[in-house]
Amino acid sequence: MQQKTLRLFIGGLATETNTFSPLPTGMAAFAEAGIYRGDATKLPPRLFTAPLHEWRRLAQAEGHQVHEGLMAAAQPAGRTVRKVYESLRDELLAGLQAALPLDMVLLNLHGAMVADGYDDCEGDLLARVRMLIGPDAILGAELDLHCHTTLAMLDNADALIAYKEYPHTDTLDRARELYALCRDAALGRIRPVTRMADCRLIGVFHTTREPAKSFVARMQALEGNDGILAVNFGHGFGLGDVAEVGARIWVIADALQPGAVARAEALAGQLAQEVFAMREASRPTSLDVACALDQALAQAANADKPVVLADSADNPGGGAPGDATFILQALLERQLRDVVSGIYWDPQAVALCQAVGLGARLELRIGGKLGPTSGQPLDLTCLVHNIAENYEQTDMSGQRGALGSAVHLEVLNNGGGLHLVLASQRSQVFHPDAFTGLGIDLAAMKIVVVKSSQHFYQGFAPIAAEVLYVQTPGAVFGSGPSLSYTKRAPTYWPLVANPWKD
Ligand SMILES: [Zn+2]
Repeated sequence: MQQKTLRLFIGGLATETNTFSPLPTGMAAFAEAGIYRGDATKLPPRLFTAPLHEWRRLAQAEGHQVHEGLMAAAQPAGRTVRKVYESLRDELLAGLQAALPLDMVLLNLHGAMVADGYDDCEGDLLARVRMLIGPDAILGAELDLHCHTTLAMLDNADALIAYKEYPHTDTLDRARELYALCRDAALGRIRPVTRMADCRLIGVFHTTREPAKSFVARMQALEGNDGILAVNFGHGFGLGDVAEVGARIWVIADALQPGAVARAEALAGQLAQEVFAMREASRPTSLDVACALDQALAQAANADKPVVLADSADNPGGGAPGDATFILQALLERQLRDVVSGIYWDPQAVALCQAVGLGARLELRIGGKLGPTSGQPLDLTCLVHNIAENYEQTDMSGQRGALGSAVHLEVLNNGGGLHLVLASQRSQVFHPDAFTGLGIDLAAMKIVVVKSSQHFYQGFAPIAAEVLYVQTPGAVFGSGPSLSYTKRAPTYWPLVANPWKD
């Protein structure tokens, strides 16, 4: 029997919104990270366009017809400006409407996007897509695991597939799974039905260590058996003050298999309780700046590799500005040498370095410009070691990520030896090549400070004697009782010791 040719639409709209961040997300933020108007797959893959490349490749290999629409993404920051969200959404919908009728729609979303007037952008978008494509077309979306999985999203999509790994090393594996699942559904081979359970907590889970590492393996082992198509763990994004913030499990079953939906429901409930049980053991241990430096110096003295300190709270990937100086201030006070710290988002300082050129010395005011979560600006005497234009680093998914113009400076105030990397484009540190690309020898450093919460881990763990997480008063504060949510019902840990008890 000849296989049906599917009409497929691919596109997306993605950003992660830290509603506590001082930076609004406007059109320029999308333009900087990339607005692709149907041409994402004609250009080299980036973090948020790589799934579209994969979907096109797989669909065309099977003889299906691909229509590509808008794909826009922005670096995480504060709420997206209302008219910016509406105009990007409407452009995506207009492209989709022009491609009707469709058998299948695959969207690359984040899952924690908030705009002024829209606490659930993905729910709004998926509902509008469903209205256009009708009840029978298959609608699938790939999500970051740091998502708010809302009922509106679930009601309108046939399949939501979230990354399983943090750092997100599996974005393409999940893209392929979403494609296969939706293709099978569009061809009538399966009928995906989802059952979700609230884990009743707001927390952080690094899948590079136990117990979350084994939980990922457990989810994967459950998939493909007894009509269970996919098991998802949305960790949630604790920096979004929205009604449905929090961790959730959702299990996709094949309703064509007897009893599968009931099994999915039971499994979701069981796994949600398992997540709750690992809440304390999963909590990342973070040190204050003084303890972290003491520990790093002690360990670096006996190691031939640097100790890596994560400036978790000033992670641009969580919506922080990326110009906080809390750790830098401490490095200066202790007059430490053989230290490199980055990436500071400071386009003004970068422009001044470009003006004076390589090898120049200059007085620079660095960092501390974006608000109280950035600390104080520091006035430093600097030597410009290197300047790079159109500078890039490798991200955790293996794609190249833009940093704009970047400079390598040496701070001379304490006799030198303290190195900084500044960039004009805001980004967390993903990979050692963010430093080595400017000629910095990381093996010669005692301490490497990276502005990132966890995505750096994949690249830096192999070159580190030790990785330490540091807590400062930055914009990405650890989720916990100190956060004040105004919209979520008070049925979650750590606000309530045991929200499962009736
Ligand atoms: Zn994420």
